Amino acid sequence: MTAPIRLALIGMGKIARDQHLPAIAGVSSFDLVATVSRHGGPEGDLPFFPDIDALIDSGVGIDAVALCTPPQVRRAIAARAIEQGWHVFLEKPPGATLAEVIALRDQAAAREVSLFASWHSRYAQGVEPARAWLADRAVRRATITWREDVRHWHPGQDWIFEAGGFGVFDPGINALSIATRILPHPMFVDTAEIDLPANRAAPIAARVGFLDATGAPIAMDLDFRQEGPQSWDIVVETDAGTLTLARGGAELSIDGGTAADPGGELHGEYPGLYRRFAAIVRAGVSDVDVGPLRLVADTFLRARINTVAAFEW
Ligand code: NAP
Repeated sequence: MTAPIRLALIGMGKIARDQHLPAIAGVSSFDLVATVSRHGGPEGDLPFFPDIDALIDSGVGIDAVALCTPPQVRRAIAARAIEQGWHVFLEKPPGATLAEVIALRDQAAAREVSLFASWHSRYAQGVEPARAWLADRAVRRATITWREDVRHWHPGQDWIFEAGGFGVFDPGINALSIATRILPHPMFVDTAEIDLPANRAAPIAARVGFLDATGAPIAMDLDFRQEGPQSWDIVVETDAGTLTLARGGAELSIDGGTAADPGGELHGEYPGLYRRFAAIVRAGVSDVDVGPLRLVADTFLRARINTVAAFEW
């Protein structure tokens, strides 16, 4: 039997607690052996350290780390972990810039460890069936609507509105991780408009017009100021009907009818991510798709920027 992968979790904030801790507990390939965070304290009896250097100095046996910090500080921690010969799971987005993610991928290859750029939304229930259904369809147009209330979902997370925090593209990149997985052709930024609050460094809303390689338009509407019902929907019109992926990829329907439950091994996004991480570690490979990050970077290159009302929590 293969020994469990000894894992340390770094950056004990919302996603580490809501999703990583329960997923690690439920996936037998991993043993959580330490946590690392500047604030807070230990999880039960587990060793707890304020930063990665203290973890390294402690001599606790580690095979892998999962990094749940904001993107702006992730590269330096990942580079330090790879130096140790540890496998690295990066929360999404995998970095604050494209070049730093490529540098990490190359460093991991040279050190012969696995790097995982995770995209949790790709593990939502409807995504693989949507990809299979769209594979041989002609896409006429698509819309992506990701409108949520930042005060509800990211309360007080100032990093999200700082430079490199992505603003509304923090959830928006989840939509792009799904779109780049399910659509049969590559997509490119054609037009973009970004709304930047007067007192912040990252956008609160954006409208992006993509084209796919066949010329089909894909319109994306992102907004962090949504009150009332929240929307995380992708609608794809094809030559053979309309596919709707709602609730962030969880719910698939074709022409308004709910698709059959695909069954299989899908039991939540984060257990799926950890099973994938274990598989790439065991196989001695990396999984680093920068496609969604590239589309966000291209949006920032291409966008007209509007200054809008200041945002306060
Ligand atoms: P969060 O609640 O703010 O947690 C991030 C943690 O990272 C903080 O608790 C903080 O812990 C640590 N940290 C280290 N350096 C930091 C710095 N310079 N500034 C701020 N925090 C720092 O954020 P989160 O919602 O968990 O998101 C973290 C990552 O997960 C993001 O990339 C996000 O896109 C991704 N994610 C979030 C969600 C979600 O629903 N929230 C869902 C999926 C993915 P210490 O202060 O103790 O070090």
